[in-house]
Amino acid sequence: MLAPGSTIGILGGGQLGRMLAMSAAQLGYRCHIYAPEGDNVAADVAARYTCAPWHDGDALAAFARDCDVITYEFENVPVGPLAGLPQDKLAPGIRALEVAQDRVREKRFMLEAGGTPADFVAVDHDSELADAVERIGVPGILKTRRDGYDGKGQWPINDRADAQGVRIPETGCVYEARLTFECEFSVILVRGRDGEVRFWDSTRNLHKDGILAHCELPAPAIVAEQSARARDMARKVADALGYVGVLTLEFFATSRGPVFNEMAPRVHNSGHWTIEGAVTSQFENHIRAICGLPLGDTASVSRTMVMDNLIGADALDLAGHLSDGRAHVHLYGKSEARTGRKMGHVTRIG
Ligand code: ADP
Ligand code: MG
Repeated sequence: MLAPGSTIGILGGGQLGRMLAMSAAQLGYRCHIYAPEGDNVAADVAARYTCAPWHDGDALAAFARDCDVITYEFENVPVGPLAGLPQDKLAPGIRALEVAQDRVREKRFMLEAGGTPADFVAVDHDSELADAVERIGVPGILKTRRDGYDGKGQWPINDRADAQGVRIPETGCVYEARLTFECEFSVILVRGRDGEVRFWDSTRNLHKDGILAHCELPAPAIVAEQSARARDMARKVADALGYVGVLTLEFFATSRGPVFNEMAPRVHNSGHWTIEGAVTSQFENHIRAICGLPLGDTASVSRTMVMDNLIGADALDLAGHLSDGRAHVHLYGKSEARTGRKMGHVTRIG
């Protein structure tokens, strides 16, 4: 168990790191943020901040010496430079990052764990796309294997002609079937150092323009019906990785049962509601898990809850959001309310 007053290192400087650091502070820990140049809003609420590139081995080594445990708020931290750090300080371990950074690896990993992803084919060269479209059929989605987020790096393929002349980026793509689904949900779990696993309730997740917009409880009946099977898949993945901390898996609820979409080796936007809506939030339980503390209760405090993201200019009307005295308003302190940027969120309980 890590004693209060110890230092938790967080790789990445965005809002997830900010909310992790706030939970860490509540339990008496200090946080050290490591992130490259950028709007690193986590640093505003942390004890220490190293601003350096991911590939700066000296800066990373100095950061690691200052930290008692190191975690991530961003899953695309390059794995190469992390290999030189003391691995026993990293939670979760880098294998979880390696799998989650590559859409093909995460789908194969899920297949090996006995789960169900959408039908897919890896497309690493221009010449492979036509064959992939032939095998999987249309409509489908071509996605970059790496670095996609908020719907970026995705191209719909509605008929075979859409695939003509497409240039596959160097790091490759995956072509997958476009599913019709009743709704989307995620399974968020926390796994402790002793292997204990706890789950939060699954919300219904609604996306707009590829970006999560809204989560709600209770989720439709189909989510309740399918979440047991989805949890089973998620637990198998967490156990196989020897995972420590919060892990999120996104699913589609389809007529054929839950279909795995993607995983994030970290706290997740679809779990922000747990700050006020669950006995213990995803942020606090992540800190508890990586520090070797007993996990907190993940039960919801109410049957009904809505969480709305504040995207771009939505965030500018703070007084308007606060005019509902029961709304829990969170702003992330980002400097520019650019279109499509996650600026904050609002949670309403009950
Ligand atoms: P990101 O990393 O950008 O979150 P996702 O793979 O989760 O990428 O895709 C973003 C959204 O696009 C999903 O939440 C879903 O709404 C839609 N989507 C992605 N893949 C599929 C699919 N195979 N079938 C139908 N919709 C999809
Ligand atoms: Mg997603």
